[in-house]
Amino acid sequence: MYSRVEELNSRRIPLAKMQAVIIGLRCLFVPHESHIRRQAMCLQSDLTLHIIWHSHCRVWRDKNDFLHIMNNTSKLEASNLQQLLTALQRSGYTTVGPILRDDAIVYDKLDSVNDLPVGWSDEQSPANYRLTKQSGASYFNFNAAPQSWKRFLYPPVRKLFTIRKDGKSLGISNENTDDMKYAFVGVRPCELSAILIQDEVFQAGKYRDDAYSAARRNLFIVAVNCTTAGGTCFCSSMKTGPEAKNNFDISLTEVLRDGRHFFIVKAGTELGASVMDLVETSAASPQEVATADAIMRQTESRITKKMETDGLPALLAENLEHPHWDDVAKRCLTCGNCTMVCPTCFCSTVEDTTDLSGQNAERFRRWDSCFTVDFSKVAGGNFRMSTKSRYRQWLTHKLSSWVDQFGVSGCVGCGRCITWCPVGIDLTAEVQAIRGTETQQRKGD
Ligand code: SF4
Ligand code: SF4
Repeated sequence: MYSRVEELNSRRIPLAKMQAVIIGLRCLFVPHESHIRRQAMCLQSDLTLHIIWHSHCRVWRDKNDFLHIMNNTSKLEASNLQQLLTALQRSGYTTVGPILRDDAIVYDKLDSVNDLPVGWSDEQSPANYRLTKQSGASYFNFNAAPQSWKRFLYPPVRKLFTIRKDGKSLGISNENTDDMKYAFVGVRPCELSAILIQDEVFQAGKYRDDAYSAARRNLFIVAVNCTTAGGTCFCSSMKTGPEAKNNFDISLTEVLRDGRHFFIVKAGTELGASVMDLVETSAASPQEVATADAIMRQTESRITKKMETDGLPALLAENLEHPHWDDVAKRCLTCGNCTMVCPTCFCSTVEDTTDLSGQNAERFRRWDSCFTVDFSKVAGGNFRMSTKSRYRQWLTHKLSSWVDQFGVSGCVGCGRCITWCPVGIDLTAEVQAIRGTETQQRKGD
């Protein structure tokens, strides 16, 4: 049950590394303030503490230097899932999650668990997406939806400002704000990674997006681990799934076995723990936790698509003239679908409109795509006219120059660009084709 025991002076506890703590060989399941303070007092003294690292607990130090220790794993009966949604809604969140619409599972406002696609799954392969009905009443037995969560944090169209002419003066009102308080329910592990990537793009650099930051600051994330592997998923290659390890407020693993239906719940933050305090849960038995872990391992073993990532950025950067780019160009329609569905793509354009009176003007930001002709149009011409150059730009940015720019790959292995490409272009196969012939090509140079 416990993974590690250490005896340390309290002042030398490596807090940053801790996932779990049990003091005096007695597990302190302490979501209560009194326990927290008692431990904090211990920490002020020179007591030697016996510390056991426990994979199901979580510890953090608050701004007053109090140590919080919590058993963060519990069990939520599926019949009580509505309580979680209600707790989030009462806490002021607009709950968003998967619903059925237009023969697909899409993310939209989620008023109750009755809106979830109960008993539905999906079948995905290159250029193919179909809903399939299941015999069980699972809530989350499907894979990445066509849309990603970016449409809420970084909407397809956003008004940036309005200008009104009043006599000789101009009034400008900034409308690039967002005070929405979203709770995303059902974020897949790969999608969590995609959100972190967009955080880097919109918040870490010199030019920050205030509206994105506001929406992100207010965001509550309920991650749902994947209990089924889609035909286009390759998250295990990109090390983003199928299990969420961190960066969520709550994570759920759905278990529907032997007539029982429940979720193993982990609180990933103090906020997540406080929301779970409002929901009826019980202690998860070791067998129940083991069942959820086994489902995760089974999902991982069923992911058949792979992306070989070793040396990938350099491979692509050194093969810009590889003949395979011409081969892809014969198939690619430059429709831009792959960029629209990708949870990390962030390119945009700006459009201005004025009314007929000439008194009012508005500026909008819209998603754009490196596949459109105008995207690469600059004074003096267009530097990316061919299909080959546009596909190459997209793929090499995602998997190579993105790493130079942001320190991580721009791909999280969700598989959307493969499923939703109308001609079934599969980036894992295109990379493999270049990798497989790269040596010959270099020799022929
Ligand atoms: S490039 Fe494709 S597989 Fe990778 S994150 Fe984007 S949509 Fe998903
Ligand atoms: S790769 Fe597929 S989805 Fe992307 S632009 Fe080409 S045809 Fe469209």
